[in-house]
Amino acid sequence: MSRQLTAIRHLDTDTIRALIDDAGKLKESVVSGKEIRSGKARSIGLLFFENSTRTRVSFEQAASHLGYRVVNFSGSGSSLSKGESLKDTILTLKNEGLEGLVMRHKASGSAALGASYFGGPFVSAGDGQHEHPTQALGDALTIKERLGKVEGLKIAIVGDVLHSRVARSNAWLLSKLGNEVRFVGPRSLIPAYTAKLPGEVHYDLRSGIAGADVVMCLRLQRERMEDGRLSSTGEFSRNYQINRVSMRAAHPDAIIMHPGPINRGIELDDLAADAPNSAILDQVANGVFVRMAALKWVFEGEKA
Ligand code: ASP
Repeated sequence: MSRQLTAIRHLDTDTIRALIDDAGKLKESVVSGKEIRSGKARSIGLLFFENSTRTRVSFEQAASHLGYRVVNFSGSGSSLSKGESLKDTILTLKNEGLEGLVMRHKASGSAALGASYFGGPFVSAGDGQHEHPTQALGDALTIKERLGKVEGLKIAIVGDVLHSRVARSNAWLLSKLGNEVRFVGPRSLIPAYTAKLPGEVHYDLRSGIAGADVVMCLRLQRERMEDGRLSSTGEFSRNYQINRVSMRAAHPDAIIMHPGPINRGIELDDLAADAPNSAILDQVANGVFVRMAALKWVFEGEKA
């Protein structure tokens, strides 16, 4: 049976831990220049229907470290613009011999749909506001490296929780591993259904990040925002920006994270983004290793 990684919510804790550990080992091998044994060379498709810098490049890097061949495919310039459906696109790629698929799409729920059409090894690179599983795995590896563990910590996820697939994947992963998760933001950017999400809601930044070991800042996703969600970005920044002053409420050794791209000066100021306790570039680097672990894992399922 092929494995498919579409959401953290459906993974058990052992699998999550194994993926993080494997990513750590792969990182050691890559950094020390050791040969990586990934079995058969595979050909995978990267289907991106939404913009991406970090995620797309890190999947390409991951695939090349594993010795896989990559076929890049984006929505524009393809037959999708002639009206072809997602199903027919995916079935076409499958029958052209692609053995695995990585997909990003703006529709929430499209990862599960795409995975079912493909029916083979599949990794989601983010689906709408739903989940971004490899981002959360990379964030967990980063927390583990910076703080020595990824359990029993207080983690504040701050800002535009409503539109953030990163917030959802991280909330599931970090709570499954036994951390305390808090969602912090204005009422208009906290989803109404938080009762179904594993985390406590705070509308006040100071109380939300009080004593936090990790302050995970989210991008204000203006491209997904209808008018009226925010009276002004200035007001949002005054109340929710992560900077040296607001960070005084967090634990003195707290780290700052952000999935990127950063709106500098809005959700995060320059000094905080570039401070020694900012783990943002570690998150970027670790994205490559967790994506290697994820690709290996979906293909290993075929042997299991
Ligand atoms: N890069 C992340 C994502 O694709 C976060 C963001 O865009 O704000 O979800």
